[in-house]
Amino acid sequence: MNRGSTAIIRLLALCLGATLTLAPVQAAPRRDAALEAQLLAHIRVLASEEFQGREPGTEGEAKTLRYLGRQWFEIGLVSGTNDPGHEWFAPVTLIAREADSSAAQFTRKGRRQYVPRDAVLALTSGKRSLVKDAPLLFVGRGAGPAPSRNELAGRVALLLDGGLDDSQRQNALLAAGASAVLTVLDGDRTLENVAARRKRSGYALASDEIGGDLEAFITPYGMERLLHGSGKSLANLKADAARPDFVPQQLDLGATLEATTRETTIRTHNLIGKIPGRRPDTGAVLFVAHWDHFGICGEPPAEDVTCNGAIDNASGLAALTEIARRVVRAPQLDRDIYFLATTAEELGLLGAHAFAENPPLPLKQIVAAFNIDSVAIAPAGSPLAIVGRGMTPLDARIAQVAKREKRRLIDGDAANAYVKRQDGWALLQHDIPAVMVTSAYSDLARMEKFFEGDYHRPSDDLNRSLELGGAGEDVAFHVALARYFGDSRRVPPTRM
Ligand SMILES: [Zn+2]
Repeated sequence: MNRGSTAIIRLLALCLGATLTLAPVQAAPRRDAALEAQLLAHIRVLASEEFQGREPGTEGEAKTLRYLGRQWFEIGLVSGTNDPGHEWFAPVTLIAREADSSAAQFTRKGRRQYVPRDAVLALTSGKRSLVKDAPLLFVGRGAGPAPSRNELAGRVALLLDGGLDDSQRQNALLAAGASAVLTVLDGDRTLENVAARRKRSGYALASDEIGGDLEAFITPYGMERLLHGSGKSLANLKADAARPDFVPQQLDLGATLEATTRETTIRTHNLIGKIPGRRPDTGAVLFVAHWDHFGICGEPPAEDVTCNGAIDNASGLAALTEIARRVVRAPQLDRDIYFLATTAEELGLLGAHAFAENPPLPLKQIVAAFNIDSVAIAPAGSPLAIVGRGMTPLDARIAQVAKREKRRLIDGDAANAYVKRQDGWALLQHDIPAVMVTSAYSDLARMEKFFEGDYHRPSDDLNRSLELGGAGEDVAFHVALARYFGDSRRVPPTRM
């Protein structure tokens, strides 16, 4: 559909409205087939095998940024880095830290206590961490308040596994002064699980401080060996920990733990474009979508080894690009409208953090930021949810735009359960009012189905059916958001 035919349809709609006075007044969302075709065309390129899963620092990054940069240039955007040395592409340096070596030795009453080598894994968040001959303090399941600094200082806290939320309890113990935390795995988790999980979270911005936390894990069998001859068993420890009057116990065991990592530097980029406003002194509006994904993520003999990220987040990039095209075509706005394609979202929202730490404009000037992630999910006619509802001053204004656009907004904040899993969260940490307004999260059961299925797997690719009805309507809504928030009379510059 082009502009001419839109006008004809509007005319038809007017005629029908005039003749059929009993027709319902509620305007059904109109699908825009041409827009959906444009979205699909971008997704077909960005999620193609040629783009190799868009991994930061690879040829896949070069292809992705070249494609998006050219699209944005041709649409009429200008560079938004505001840095003549780095037009369009803002450099981001990442450090990937991979576990290199792990060693553990235990003593009881000064004598070596045998534990098999493969029963313990020590990991550090820094380059090298060492704890020598530290006494073990058994802290049970780590429920309740952490032991005092006095009790923990210079000791290794011995913790019973509590599942995936362990990192929080480990961090609390480290923050409270423990030299290291040694977690006894339960039957469900293996050392391989722990290592694999760590591999995925071992990335940081080069500008971030290096941590030196030492965390170790021991298998149930290793723990039995460690307790051998002490008169206690793992079952005894578990029973103690379950008592309501449990208090941390010092064991007559000492540990020497050492872990080292290997560092790799990855040079990657955020892409930043903008549409200059008439009155940039009144601030800016920011639209965001992450460009990165997991690259080659499988191993033979699997046939499909590329995580193409069609929904996550080729769909968001497609939407971002088509929003830009439509805002360029509209009359010039007061504010600068920035378009940011972030790197390393999948590695911990790192590109968004880098943007905020080294921004192309004072962050206070950003009156609103809208993130777009994994939008090829909902059918046309879906309502909109706000991820980050109640966390910014934007909600009431978004509701006004929804009313004008005849879009239904979901009540309640159930979608906030996902707020930390998207770039808007990183921006919120830097006091940028950032939300995700999206049809994708209007039905959380449908979104969960994606999370449990193709999400972060090679099957999030072009072979699956892509639902673009909701995405098309979301593009139209974001264009309306740009026009509303880009108008300095309607949204006065309050934060500058
Ligand atoms: Zn993802």
